[in-house]
Amino acid sequence: MIEVDISRVIIEEYSKRLTEHLENDVVVVGAGPAGLAASYYLCKSGVKTTVVEKKLSVGGGIWGGAAGYNVVTFEDTEILDEIGVTTKKQGGLYTADAIEFATALAYKAKKAGAEIFNLTEVEDIVLKDETVKGVVVNSASARLLGLHVDPFCICARFVIDGTGHPAELVGMLKRRKPELFPRELQEYFMNVETSEAGVVEKTSEVFPGLYVAGMSVCDVFGLPRMGPIFGGMLKSGKKVAGLINERLQSSNA
Ligand SMILES: Cc1cc2nc3c(=O)[nH]c(=O)nc-3n(C[C@H](O)[C@H](O)[C@H](O)COP(=O)(O)OP(=O)(O)OC[C@H]3O[C@@H](n4cnc5c(N)ncnc54)[C@H](O)[C@@H]3O)c2cc1C
Repeated sequence: MIEVDISRVIIEEYSKRLTEHLENDVVVVGAGPAGLAASYYLCKSGVKTTVVEKKLSVGGGIWGGAAGYNVVTFEDTEILDEIGVTTKKQGGLYTADAIEFATALAYKAKKAGAEIFNLTEVEDIVLKDETVKGVVVNSASARLLGLHVDPFCICARFVIDGTGHPAELVGMLKRRKPELFPRELQEYFMNVETSEAGVVEKTSEVFPGLYVAGMSVCDVFGLPRMGPIFGGMLKSGKKVAGLINERLQSSNA
């Protein structure tokens, strides 16, 4: 029966993908601009990468532009040109359509080889020998419905906290190890000039095995917020991919 065939191929295909990605080089948590850019550059370098996103849609904060006006801004177009996004120069800034940007970035990450599991929420960290070794995940609907459902784990040599504002993975560490992150996880007041550069500069490993990229960096280091300008997010994603790639190369050498 066609009805059974449809169900069977979906279940088989999804299970195959999930099983093949229970062990990875990198797990990226959050499919916002930083997480998607990181996964695109990691996959381009041949790094086995899984992205976990709790929402139905990927793209994080891209879609709404500013206050729902779906236009996003950039200071340069290097990465946008690479992923094929149309830009318009307007004064000292470049603009792009938020929908085109979100879909192009997700498409490029996917085509480069990223495995993306949406509707999948990270609820905890796998920690061994004081090193982050993976994430504990559940169906996002389990939390929404308040269901008592046990999770499963997706492991990796490195994990990226690309959860944006909440810096959720760092928050999970902070709750059990407050001494490691004594300050509150919170961005500072708006200041685009300092933050666009600062977010890239501070993109780094903040605990063995755990890197931060994108707005999570602002929360962890108390950098200013920057609003709907996305170059820093892309560059932070590209930088974290480069840092992890170097680590993988040197440990494989
Ligand atoms: C509500 C909102 C508020 C914003 N506020 C600011 C601001 O104050 N300052 C500023 O500069 N810019 C802000 N922006 C603008 C811009 O959207 C962000 O700067 C940019 O999107 C951040 O990119 P990112 O990749 O770091 O994170 P995001 O685009 O936020 O993407 C993070 C992704 O991680 C996912 N995620 C979170 N937790 C989990 C989890 N546990 N498991 C799995 N997935 C998870 C989220 O669903 C999301 O898709 C905001 C955007 C929105 C929509």
